[in-house]
Amino acid sequence: MITNLASGRTVAGEPTALQKTDVLAHDVFAGRADGYDRSAAFPTEDFDDLFAAGLLGAAVPRPYGGLGFGPQQRNTLPLWEMTTRLAEADLSLARCWEGHANSLVLIDALGNEQQQRRWFEGVVERGEIWVAWSGEPQAPKPGEVRTFGTTVAAAEGGWILNGTKAFATSATGARWAILLVDPAGPGGARHSASGAADGLLMLACDLTDPSLSVDTSWWDPVGMRGTASHVVRFDDTFIPHDQLIGEPGSYLAGHWQSAFVPHYAASFLGAAEAAYRYALGYLEHQGKTGDPHVQQRVGSMAVNVDTARLWLRHVAALWDEGRIGEARIAGSRARHVIEHLAEETLHHCIRACGARSLVRPAPVERILRDLTFYQRHDNDDHILASVGRAALGLAHDPSFHKP
Ligand SMILES: Cc1cc2nc3c(=O)[nH]c(=O)nc-3n(C[C@H](O)[C@H](O)[C@H](O)COP(=O)(O)OP(=O)(O)OC[C@H]3O[C@@H](n4cnc5c(N)ncnc54)[C@H](O)[C@@H]3O)c2cc1C
Repeated sequence: MITNLASGRTVAGEPTALQKTDVLAHDVFAGRADGYDRSAAFPTEDFDDLFAAGLLGAAVPRPYGGLGFGPQQRNTLPLWEMTTRLAEADLSLARCWEGHANSLVLIDALGNEQQQRRWFEGVVERGEIWVAWSGEPQAPKPGEVRTFGTTVAAAEGGWILNGTKAFATSATGARWAILLVDPAGPGGARHSASGAADGLLMLACDLTDPSLSVDTSWWDPVGMRGTASHVVRFDDTFIPHDQLIGEPGSYLAGHWQSAFVPHYAASFLGAAEAAYRYALGYLEHQGKTGDPHVQQRVGSMAVNVDTARLWLRHVAALWDEGRIGEARIAGSRARHVIEHLAEETLHHCIRACGARSLVRPAPVERILRDLTFYQRHDNDDHILASVGRAALGLAHDPSFHKP
């Protein structure tokens, strides 16, 4: 039996993965979030605890010692629910977690048997953390002198990489990164100018390689600070052939990003759940629950959270039933609607509770900063246009929602 100290709930028998996640998130991770945020440090201790609890391999197939969660295993909802629970405690932790879990889904889908054996064992036995890095924004912001981008050259037995990637989540915590790189030129997958469909490579990079360096001076953002999404530099980094995942072009041809778009929404839901839960306690404590405006705001929050949960359940079921075409566009719809539900829920919380809900140690100000920044991961205008194009029967991009 385990007891959740925050909720007081006790759970009989062997706890499920979700129950273990719940306890860790509420009793341990939530208390560490402020420290990681202030120091912009990767949540190392949280990942240590996830590993110790047997949760790090959630997206590793069962034959390899994992829990067999995720869209590739047609067991999607448990993974997304874990992510929501982690996001309730700390959105930065959830982003690092998603990057890890999504990488394992890709290895499961596209890795060969030898790669799966090697890398899944590293996760399950040794606690190795993964992430996937594409980010090479090409359009400089005003005053930005630094440029981002990688070049990839074929070499004997593999490839040589040079250049930089930005937004390299978990840069100081992960052991492996799947690098999405384009031999046709800089831009990765998201910012590719070439279209990259034929040639984009997924190269597994050992982040202990001495040719890599992490520039921590760039990462001073408004939120998501604990993701440690630094700039990483590659100086003649050699990646051997046997660390190529899938065929060149398979990431975009298989629309793999579309499996991860609703996973971001699972994190946004965690932000909404955290704000809702906080507001309930706050309003009860202040004796304001009799106010009709408060009641309306709480009603909206309750409906928003339920709506977001139902959307995720719907999309997860489509993945699990193998209705992949429908799952892809439903994932974009869910990503769009849950972004707005989460944002609105947070604002209801702030309006109902008042100014002191935005004063530390209340978590609401951190959630506001984190959610504001996290949502920039994809552009909601482009997502909605993509949903519209699909509804009109026009060509659309369910991965990066490019016009
Ligand atoms: C917290 C966080 C963690 C992240 N972690 C990772 C990670 O682990 N791995 C990874 O690969 N990436 C990661 N990213 C990066 C992310 O994938 C994007 O690459 C990043 O947000 C791009 O930065 P930007 O919005 O400033 O740049 P831009 O790409 O320049 O976008 C600015 C705006 O312009 C829009 N835009 C772009 N092109 C056009 C166009 N042609 N016409 C009109 N509008 C356009 C964009 O949609 C956006 O709204 C992360 C981002 C965040 C916020």
